[in-house]
Amino acid sequence: MPKRSVRDLDVAGKRALVRVDFNVPLENGQVADDTRIRAVLPTLELLLSGGASAVLCSHLGRPKGKDPKYSLAPVAARLAELLGKPVAFAGDTAGPDARAKAAALKPGEVLVVENTRFEEGEAVKGKDAAGNKIETFDPAFSQALAALGDFFVNDAFGSSHRAHSSVVGVTHYLKPAVAGLLVEKELDMLSRVYHAPQEGFVVILGGAKVDDKIGVIRSLLPKCGTMLIGGAMTYSFMAAQGRPIGASLLLPASLEAARGILADSRPEDLARLRLPHDVHMTEVGTNYQRRKIVPVAFMREHWEGLDIGPETAREYADIARRAQTVFWNGPMGMFEVEPFGEGTRAVATGLAESAGLTVVGGGDSARAIQEMGFAEKVSHVCTGGGASLEFLAQGDLPGVAALDDA
Ligand code: AMP
Repeated sequence: MPKRSVRDLDVAGKRALVRVDFNVPLENGQVADDTRIRAVLPTLELLLSGGASAVLCSHLGRPKGKDPKYSLAPVAARLAELLGKPVAFAGDTAGPDARAKAAALKPGEVLVVENTRFEEGEAVKGKDAAGNKIETFDPAFSQALAALGDFFVNDAFGSSHRAHSSVVGVTHYLKPAVAGLLVEKELDMLSRVYHAPQEGFVVILGGAKVDDKIGVIRSLLPKCGTMLIGGAMTYSFMAAQGRPIGASLLLPASLEAARGILADSRPEDLARLRLPHDVHMTEVGTNYQRRKIVPVAFMREHWEGLDIGPETAREYADIARRAQTVFWNGPMGMFEVEPFGEGTRAVATGLAESAGLTVVGGGDSARAIQEMGFAEKVSHVCTGGGASLEFLAQGDLPGVAALDDA
């Protein structure tokens, strides 16, 4: 169901409460990467030029209580530089300081309130209908946040898979509740992936943990034309098939997830799942000095696979290049260590050279494509890894479902 957009509102003279994703890396009290701050500038500019004021809220990290290390103050300072105008900051999230500073805002002015996770009410433990443990919202804190604005905008794509107070709870107490421009753009791109025609639809998954990607594998394996597996995930699938993996990384939860997928999937779907056929491995204890490229069948004791081999890399890159739609999440190897970045680089190059729709789903793969200078050469780089995977697994997100229908 399409959602109402911030573009559809008359915002003049009103105060917007905007949930943003300012969960950015900090180094020595400074913002080390401002990509997520820049990503919400279009929504802010739309609001401010339309005569609204804006109260911005976000979480940052996983603080235990009110830990000043996780204050949003440096983020407010960086936002002021990017906007080229002062940005007010409240030392609490929805308390007296935030209320007073929000009430004093004039059209065109911006306030950032303190980290939502400084408040216990941001996320409370609950159970879903099936009795599974979940995190949900606290009505009292949601209501206090809602009181800061005249309407609500969700532009925190990277947090929209969480049913927390500042994402979902607030929508119960503040209307209209609409999608910001970043959320709209992310949903547009991911919906095009989710509904892509099977023919020419390629999914590339890497990284270490199958259990993190089990939902997306189950959802996309029947829909895609080809699913290419790389990274340490490979060894979970190989081990689940009873094949030797030497000393390669094998996480128990990941192995269990791979076993589940192999056991439950239809044979015609499993035929779409491809594993690497050669591997770049290193002898354990040699500090990566002893390395070999071999067919995966030759993996042996004391050697661990740290990247897909060059033949697989060439093949995966070629498949990506010729695809109509590609979704990629997760590095093909331990790309942080120089000789093992080749497979990831090859896949990134394949996407960059493809004329199709190419979407990179957050996290390490987004970092890799940025570092390689290819971010402009793909159709879209998602700002939220977890959120993009959950959207492709479920076809929706709690923080989006909670917004007003168009
Ligand atoms: P994930 O969090 O599941 O997306 O995994 C990302 C991490 O997996 C990165 O830090 C990679 O270095 C790591 N990784 C990818 N391939 C391998 C591998 N073959 N062996 C060990 N670690 C790997």
